[in-house]
Amino acid sequence: MLSTFLIAIYSLLVVLTVKSRREVMDSINQELYGASPDIKVSASSKRLIQVLQKVLASCIILPSDTDAFNASASNYFAQQSNTTRPACIVRPETVEQLSQAVAILHQEFLARRADGRDKPNNLGFVSLRSGGHSYSGASASIEGGVLLDLSRFSEVTVSNDGTLVTIGTGARWSRVNQVLEAKKIAVPGGRNGAVGVGGFTLGGGISFFSQRYGLACSNVIEYQVVLASGDVVIASATSNTKLWRALKGGANNFGIVTRFTFRAFPCGDIWGGCLFSPSFESSRSIDAFHAFVDRADPKKPDVEYDDYASGPLVCFCYLQRPGVEIISTFITYTKEPPSGSDWPACWKKSGFKSLWRYWSTVKQRTLSSACQDLAVGEKAGLSQTVAGTIVKNDKATLDAAYAFYREACVEVKKVKGKGIRFVFVLQPLLPAWMHKGDPNYLGLENTMTEPHVLISFSPVWIDVNHNEFVEDLIRRTVGKIERFARERGTYHPYKYVNYCAAWQDPFEGHGEENLEILRGVSREYDAEGFFQRACPGGFKIPGLEEGS
Ligand SMILES: Cc1cc2nc3c(=O)[nH]c(=O)nc-3n(C[C@H](O)[C@H](O)[C@H](O)COP(=O)(O)OP(=O)(O)OC[C@H]3O[C@@H](n4cnc5c(N)ncnc54)[C@H](O)[C@@H]3O)c2cc1C
Repeated sequence: MLSTFLIAIYSLLVVLTVKSRREVMDSINQELYGASPDIKVSASSKRLIQVLQKVLASCIILPSDTDAFNASASNYFAQQSNTTRPACIVRPETVEQLSQAVAILHQEFLARRADGRDKPNNLGFVSLRSGGHSYSGASASIEGGVLLDLSRFSEVTVSNDGTLVTIGTGARWSRVNQVLEAKKIAVPGGRNGAVGVGGFTLGGGISFFSQRYGLACSNVIEYQVVLASGDVVIASATSNTKLWRALKGGANNFGIVTRFTFRAFPCGDIWGGCLFSPSFESSRSIDAFHAFVDRADPKKPDVEYDDYASGPLVCFCYLQRPGVEIISTFITYTKEPPSGSDWPACWKKSGFKSLWRYWSTVKQRTLSSACQDLAVGEKAGLSQTVAGTIVKNDKATLDAAYAFYREACVEVKKVKGKGIRFVFVLQPLLPAWMHKGDPNYLGLENTMTEPHVLISFSPVWIDVNHNEFVEDLIRRTVGKIERFARERGTYHPYKYVNYCAAWQDPFEGHGEENLEILRGVSREYDAEGFFQRACPGGFKIPGLEEGS
């Protein structure tokens, strides 16, 4: 009898305790996430958000602030990222606020690691985003974690003499170009105005000016960086020099860059645009591409290569709905050609001049206008991905790559639904780029001694049910190209981080010596591996995994 009574009392207490605990959690949920929370947030993340709110109230956006939250959480280029929901967004306005946020997140990381609240391989709860234009789904987004939205760091400041430009990481290239055009200067920025300064520059940065000035990162004389500890440092040729070099292509592995100081150069109008050709010109397009790029071979000193030429970017685009291929070739000349809107000599004598075309947009224009033109057809919010590989500018390899792409198009054609745009792009990667500007740890000065080609696939599709099919298809197709190139001796192990799929390793081609330096920089500036583990998006340096 007594035992029955005690069990009844105990059950009542349990029910009350559970109920009151649930009520408390519900009220926290209500406050943080609004009426119907559908975001899975761990208890530790909820506590973390309360701390962030206490310290940085003006920078925090919670799901309960529906409009602001959705506007930021859906501000990505790729649909895959737009549907990922963080538990909380931190959008700092000042470096001090960002520094405080990082210090709190770092403490949380250490606490989670120490008390084993999360498994060692599951510590990732932070993502960083500048322009949100990474192709790979989870590069800059995180489900149920904290998104650091860097969009407020968007200043563009030109030095008095016009030789230096300081740009906030959250600026987009369209605005940068507009500010600089008014002063008749430029920096080697993105060729698509919507792309963010941060991710583009930290990945390396291929611009219209690569042949004249090298990669974008090779023109950054100074970075302001928030380290894992929350400390703010300057990395330049005279201060934190190894960090300065490591940030050139090192992506988000070492710290959060708030601003970049670029060397600028005079720039007026340029010439360029797009040639749209039908599929029957594919073979002649590849011939023209190969011959043009071949001219940049330093081992052929008798062949003159005009450093103002940029491109060609040849995009073969298979449209599943009508079942046709269109070739769009973007060619540029980075100064006003002597004869106005007429084709500059280097392009006039190229094979592109005689391609049959539906229409052409080439003309004298501003840099902004060229960037807008290149962005035509790019639409944010659709499913997107990218995968790239690098080969020597070898005609047989390019022909084989095109043939593999066509095989893939046959598979695309058979898929139910008609919303896939399967895009295969050829663009040069030239030896001169690797020797211009400041040094880095990419390891390309000695291995890219002849013209190479960056082959990439950047498919776009509407139906999310096709995600797996498309990802698998480009993986298999890149695999075929790489097997062919390896056998022919034309494969290059470097992968351009900005055109890498999640399953690729952009650090493979750096060489062990450079990789060891990068590991050392990471250990020096981020001893506990915050950027390696707490911030899982993007590409991490191999050999720095937990316990290694
Ligand atoms: C339509 C389109 C056109 C493109 N054109 C070009 C081109 O012409 N040339 C070229 O080289 N690339 C090009 N790219 C690739 C582009 O450079 C990369 O996708 C780049 O990462 C985008 O930068 P973001 O700031 O917009 O991206 P985000 O998605 O915001 O960031 C990309 C990565 O960088 C990290 N990151 C961002 N900011 C910081 C920071 N301040 N500190 C530390 N880590 C940070 C993020 O965590 C993420 O992993 C293009 C991409 C698209 C979608």
